[in-house]
Amino acid sequence: MIRERVSEDIYVFTSELYAQVTAGLILTQEGSVVVDTMPFPRESKALRDFALRVSGPKGIRYVINTHSHADHVYGNYLFEGSEIIAHKRARYLMEKYGKPALEEAKVTSSDLKEVRIRLPEMLVEDELTIRLGEKTIHIQRLPGNSEDGIGIHVIEKKVFFAGDVVMPVPYIVGGDLKQLMHSLQKLSQLQLDALVPGHGPVLLKGEIPEKLSKSMTYLRTIDRLVEQTIARGKPKESLSQISVDACGIPRIALGGLAQDLHVANLFWLYDQKMQKRQKQAEAEKVA
Ligand SMILES: [Zn+2]
Repeated sequence: MIRERVSEDIYVFTSELYAQVTAGLILTQEGSVVVDTMPFPRESKALRDFALRVSGPKGIRYVINTHSHADHVYGNYLFEGSEIIAHKRARYLMEKYGKPALEEAKVTSSDLKEVRIRLPEMLVEDELTIRLGEKTIHIQRLPGNSEDGIGIHVIEKKVFFAGDVVMPVPYIVGGDLKQLMHSLQKLSQLQLDALVPGHGPVLLKGEIPEKLSKSMTYLRTIDRLVEQTIARGKPKESLSQISVDACGIPRIALGGLAQDLHVANLFWLYDQKMQKRQKQAEAEKVA
């Protein structure tokens, strides 16, 4: 796991075991806040041990989950004594889908043997502000990659943890393109010194506007291409011939996962649009 400092008292950790997923640590005089907890115990423990070492006598007060996906929440159980915060919907999704998915994952991955789902106790609906020591931590809804996404803004430090709403390749499978677009727009209105994505390298001040606008261009491009494919009556499979580079995202992004995520996006969008059309056609028949 790679550790870097994005501000005097804010750290970002990047996984070397799973898709460059990130976690964060915000230190204050009244204890610390951890953002996301890594998928595999080896890295979750390293994150926890480091956090305990540098947190001071008040320890780790809160753990915030940016959303309910496994790679961001599996380490929760290791943070005994800290309160877990997430969106209200994240708790529901972890209970309903996260628990059975973990049992299934354990069959093929012995590394996950000891993991158990620890559900969040403090639930955010729209927003929540935590005032801790000298810092103001503003939590707000940030959907699009998932319906339960939240963003964490450390106001005084101009650092923002965006979860998977920001990734080297925007990812909408299980989410919603329009909502993601809206969330990215919201982010582009903030003055930030560092923007921490759910996966991949931290974005620094100078590169934030360009990266966000590239992500929005990518989303508009795939929306248009999928629309065209449907209008021309071409099969869904033909979408896999569209390269991610052609949509403005380098193929090497996220350790070479870019093209796979991109094709998954195209297929998801195709299915969403077809379902919508079908519903409309049925409604017209009834009318
Ligand atoms: Zn993720």
